[in-house]
Amino acid sequence: MSIFEDLESNVRSYSRSFPVNFVRAKDARLYTDDGQQYIDFLAGAGALNYGHNPSLLKTCLLDYIQLDGITHGLDMQTSAKADFLQTLQSHILEPRNLDYRVQFTGPTGTNAVEAAMKLARKVTGRETIVSFTNGFHGVSLGALAATGNQHHRGAAGVSMPGIVRMPYDGYLGDEIDSTAYLEKMLTDPSSGLDQPAAVLVETIQGEGGATTASNTWLQRLEAICKAHSILLILDDIQAGCGRSGTFFSFENAGITPDIVTLSKSLSGYGLPLSIVLFKPELDEWEPGEHNGTFRGNNLAFTTAAESFRQYWSSDDLTQAVLSKATLVQRELMSLCTEFHDFGLTHRGRGLMQGLNCGTGELAGSIARSCFENGLIIETSGPNDEVLKVLCPLTISEADLLEGLGILSSAVKTVCNRAEPEDIETDYFDGLRLVS
Ligand SMILES: *Cc1c(COP(=O)(O)O)cnc(C)c1O
Repeated sequence: MSIFEDLESNVRSYSRSFPVNFVRAKDARLYTDDGQQYIDFLAGAGALNYGHNPSLLKTCLLDYIQLDGITHGLDMQTSAKADFLQTLQSHILEPRNLDYRVQFTGPTGTNAVEAAMKLARKVTGRETIVSFTNGFHGVSLGALAATGNQHHRGAAGVSMPGIVRMPYDGYLGDEIDSTAYLEKMLTDPSSGLDQPAAVLVETIQGEGGATTASNTWLQRLEAICKAHSILLILDDIQAGCGRSGTFFSFENAGITPDIVTLSKSLSGYGLPLSIVLFKPELDEWEPGEHNGTFRGNNLAFTTAAESFRQYWSSDDLTQAVLSKATLVQRELMSLCTEFHDFGLTHRGRGLMQGLNCGTGELAGSIARSCFENGLIIETSGPNDEVLKVLCPLTISEADLLEGLGILSSAVKTVCNRAEPEDIETDYFDGLRLVS
């Protein structure tokens, strides 16, 4: 038995899908202790948008540590925090005409979601928050209440009030505009929906299986929120930081959420860092009213600030993401055509695309075949039926094409060797999606 099976809790999950010991990683590749290497289409579940140990950020982190820069500073003023705030303003917010206050929360995404929901309830004096089918917002109780996934919800052990679920874009079919349902519920005094404090939404549902909301749906949602004085919270933890192409995933929709959560790739280096952005008039917090010992990871500030300078001074990265996204889409669409009989369909946009395999068994078998051939890729979606391509945004075209080649061969191997009902299930038994 390995030390992991011996000592680590049964709650571990990714290590079950990829049971090898990693020792080193660079850019889009991971290396094991026995000399294997893997192309990474998981990228820390979206926490490594600039790849593993990006050279452009590593030097500045090493320099900062070498000079005994502050590592832990609670939420005190530090040069690293000032640099982060300044570059966030000059490179991210100002060019997009966004006027937001910045709140530092505990270091994980779910901490940012908790803070966002708490602020919305405090400012409006209302309790109900609308979240959407198949949404994922984290697993601490407040965020878990807003999360749809039954596997995660089942572990709560207490009731999770304060959330009303509405159908996400396309949930009831392409012809049905689910914002019309929300609007109807809000205007009918006997609908049973209490006036919400906020609506909490992802533009692309990461863990939900790369399902996307259209620009018009998002625009209608924003208009409904405005008309009914409801705050719009956009959870950009996975789809943000360039994953969709633009820095924020809502830019193309032309909407301006009242509150935005960011985490995962925010530090640029895989270091924990989360923030909540909100319109200045919402800043009704009392000093220290919401806090957290690790709400100010100065090492993460250092790499985040450098990531803004290196990657967001021009639109080169956006252009690169869009052109790589086209390659991914072309490959996935051609698999959908070739294996039409298996009901494969394409999902997502930017470098957050998926291959919906219909069943978790089929998707799991393909993922296993990929792993055997040097590619790390995970499944998501309500039944783990969507293979999600989540490579680093900075992946070289050669690595991207090699990874897509492995994926394509795996789909062919698995689909050609069996009818869907024969697909092996052993490998992914016991594994369910995690954040
Ligand atoms: C991953 C994720 C979270 C939770 O972040 P953690 O760091 O795992 O707590 C919340 N919202 C979205 C959209 C996510 O993808």
